[in-house]
Amino acid sequence: MSLFKKMDLNEDEAVKQPKGESEKVKCLIIGSGPAGYTAAIYAARANLSPVLYEGLQPGGQLTTTTEVENFPGYPEGITGPEMMDDFKKQARRFGTDIRFGLATGSDLTAPPFKITIDNSKVIEAESLIIATGATAKYLGLESERKYMGSGVSACATCDGFFYKNQDVAVVGGGDTAAEEALYLSGICRRVYLIIRKDHMRASKVLQERVFNQDNISVFFEHITREIVGEDGVVTGVLLVNSKGEEVLLDITGFFVAIGHTPNSSIFKEYLERDEVGYIKTKVGSTHTNVEGVFACGDVMDPVYRQAVTAAGTGCMAAIDSERYLASRKVASLVSKS
Ligand code: NDP
Repeated sequence: MSLFKKMDLNEDEAVKQPKGESEKVKCLIIGSGPAGYTAAIYAARANLSPVLYEGLQPGGQLTTTTEVENFPGYPEGITGPEMMDDFKKQARRFGTDIRFGLATGSDLTAPPFKITIDNSKVIEAESLIIATGATAKYLGLESERKYMGSGVSACATCDGFFYKNQDVAVVGGGDTAAEEALYLSGICRRVYLIIRKDHMRASKVLQERVFNQDNISVFFEHITREIVGEDGVVTGVLLVNSKGEEVLLDITGFFVAIGHTPNSSIFKEYLERDEVGYIKTKVGSTHTNVEGVFACGDVMDPVYRQAVTAAGTGCMAAIDSERYLASRKVASLVSKS
């Protein structure tokens, strides 16, 4: 989990100044989740000779998921790491230059865009595809870390099915928590929704659906003290309410839904972002406010956040990038004639 946190430098750590050696590339892709690799496959097949930097967590968030059963093309399901390995092989097959390294700074004033890697090397890119993803927020409990992937998850759509007909808990009071609880209520026997305040932040429509769902029990003004387990699997969650009273719920799955942090801070000086930090793109495209810079996947998607939608926007980013580069080539030929 600490790895996720490090993936995005915080606002103070973000460095802008490029130093050290530099290299020119036509298309630079930052990030190695489904969005980044799909962008790489398309960009490589379009002869853009993409260079892809994997970031601190090669393969992205999916490498922390166990089984992926909702990505089309895998009828029997596949583990997250295996699937990302397939993505990588496919990107490499068409000639993507895949490298270890973390983007630590940016200068997007004008093309070529300068991206600093590991605080030293500078890549000068004619076009830039940002696929740096988002990081799920966690409560920060030791027990949460301990049972990650064996009872603790931050994605009900990914992992809910493993808790079919079992009792689970969701923590959080926003739209995501409400949606996760509703989704799980269709699979699990009982869903406990744990909210730290005396009200939910989620939209009224979602709240009503939650309150009208018979198998969702809402615990207002409760915080999670500890996730309890036995033999490496979750067996319960210990809550404490505003009066200091403890409640132990028997559950086998604990879903954290307290928000995500998009990994976009190193671009904050140049790119328009929403209040949470998601990079804004022009509707129906991956164009950011800086021409030649494209964003795809979870770093620009606060709504769907699925591997398959990330892959879809990765494809869009490569096509947008190819068209941008082609238009610049035409423009330079016109200006020379
Ligand atoms: P939000 O930031 O909206 O909500 C986070 C929730 O988690 C809040 O209830 C917050 O509590 C709670 N929380 C935060 N930290 C802790 C903690 N340490 N312990 C316990 N609870 C905690 O995040 P969401 O992911 O829900 O939503 C993000 C954005 O995406 C929102 O704008 C949302 O509207 C949007 N969204 C829209 C959807 C849709 O339209 N269908 C679906 C999903 C998301 P508190 O209220 O006390 O701060």
